[in-house]
Amino acid sequence: NWCDIQDIVGVALNQFRETSGHRIVVKFSDDIPPVPLDDVLMEQVLVNLLSNAIKYSPVGSEITLSVTFDGDKLVIRVADEGFGIPAGEHDKVFDKFYRVQSGLKVPGTGLGLAICKGIVEAHGGTITAAPNSPRGTVFTVAMPVDSGSQF
Ligand code: ATP
Ligand code: MG
Repeated sequence: NWCDIQDIVGVALNQFRETSGHRIVVKFSDDIPPVPLDDVLMEQVLVNLLSNAIKYSPVGSEITLSVTFDGDKLVIRVADEGFGIPAGEHDKVFDKFYRVQSGLKVPGTGLGLAICKGIVEAHGGTITAAPNSPRGTVFTVAMPVDSGSQF
């Protein structure tokens, strides 16, 4: 099933907006082309990233989901103002079962990001984590939208 990124974001947000106690801010740039995406898989990626942002940042803090287009990639960012990921562990969090030691009070299996990475890379995209400024984490998903894309 193929869908527009706006619809996919809308469906993913519906799972959280009312309940999380966070301020979820959504931004779309106006130059986003109509790219068909696999809605089930992309929703899974967004739900995993949003659920992490919610789990690992304080209630009442802001989460920003932005979608931009850079010429040949759709770029989706999920940024939070949480306690962040320690330096040197931003790549490891994508490993199966890897969980940051300091965050273990928060329940989880350590699979969400490994699943995200599998889905994104299977479609020729990339996913990275980096420190957000002044605090928290930003996850960036870049999906190719040229003819080489499988979406
Ligand atoms: P689940 O399988 O339920 O998603 P999980 O959330 O622990 O469990 P991942 O989503 O794969 O697993 O995340 C791996 C680890 O990366 C987390 O345990 C947490 O330590 C860290 N992490 C992920 N997202 C964030 C975030 N937004 N802020 C801080 N730490 C994060
Ligand atoms: Mg998770």
